[in-house]
Amino acid sequence: MLTIENLNLSYGNFQALINVNLTLHSGDIYAIIGPSGCGKSSLLNILAGNVNNYSGTVLLDRQKISYRKKNIGLIAQDYGLLPWKTVHGNIILPLKIKKLNISDFKDKIGYIKERLQLTGLENRYPNQLSGGQKQRVAIAKTFIMELDLLLMDESFSALDAITREQTQELFLDVRNEKKPITLFVTHSIDEAVFLGKKIVILSGVPGSITAIIDNPTYGKSDSRKTTEFLDICTGIRDLIKKEWGTY
Ligand code: ADP
Ligand code: MG
Repeated sequence: MLTIENLNLSYGNFQALINVNLTLHSGDIYAIIGPSGCGKSSLLNILAGNVNNYSGTVLLDRQKISYRKKNIGLIAQDYGLLPWKTVHGNIILPLKIKKLNISDFKDKIGYIKERLQLTGLENRYPNQLSGGQKQRVAIAKTFIMELDLLLMDESFSALDAITREQTQELFLDVRNEKKPITLFVTHSIDEAVFLGKKIVILSGVPGSITAIIDNPTYGKSDSRKTTEFLDICTGIRDLIKKEWGTY
């Protein structure tokens, strides 16, 4: 269980997040939609342990969230790849950090690389990759790990439309093995409704939660064709227009 209570974050005298409260239970997938600059990346960085100067409570399984005690994976908005490591080196880095045996993950690494069309690119460095390829390396690196908490920051945004949908399917397939609590930020209403059990709408500066929408259609590969799916998308679009003015 992930518990966020009365979370506030300031950078100097600039307040980025105000009074954020969220409780996610085992296996929950929440989508976060919010305008640029409302603190979405800051929220994920707090959960990943990269930002510590917040006030309020953040607990994972009733203990103060800790990267050392738990397996927490963040697919960062800037991909977070090490420029001096190859694609392969970047992909196996989280396993090495957690001192896991790479050979135990050989099949999974091969499967994920194949599904993300990274096979053959293993020896390249990040500066020899396109934006979409870099993003797929960042996704592979995180999907290989068995996680307690998965955080994705606009993680499919650089992918072309078809690859994006294939990667969403991969996400659902990978989740079927172990279901980490997942929070993902997206600007795509369609993606939020396809994957998110609940959709959290953030607004304003400082960012705060303005709505949490239930989405019974989530996680089903054929949901996009249903009228219920379209109705939820329309409801979110109308709400966002009202909250943000335009979208
Ligand atoms: P989002 O991901 O929703 O676009 P961010 O969490 O990246 O928003 O940023 C929220 C606000 O905090 C922005 O106004 C941004 O400029 C500011 N901000 C982010 N990181 C820092 C930082 N390290 N120092 C100062 N201000 C920051
Ligand atoms: Mg961001």
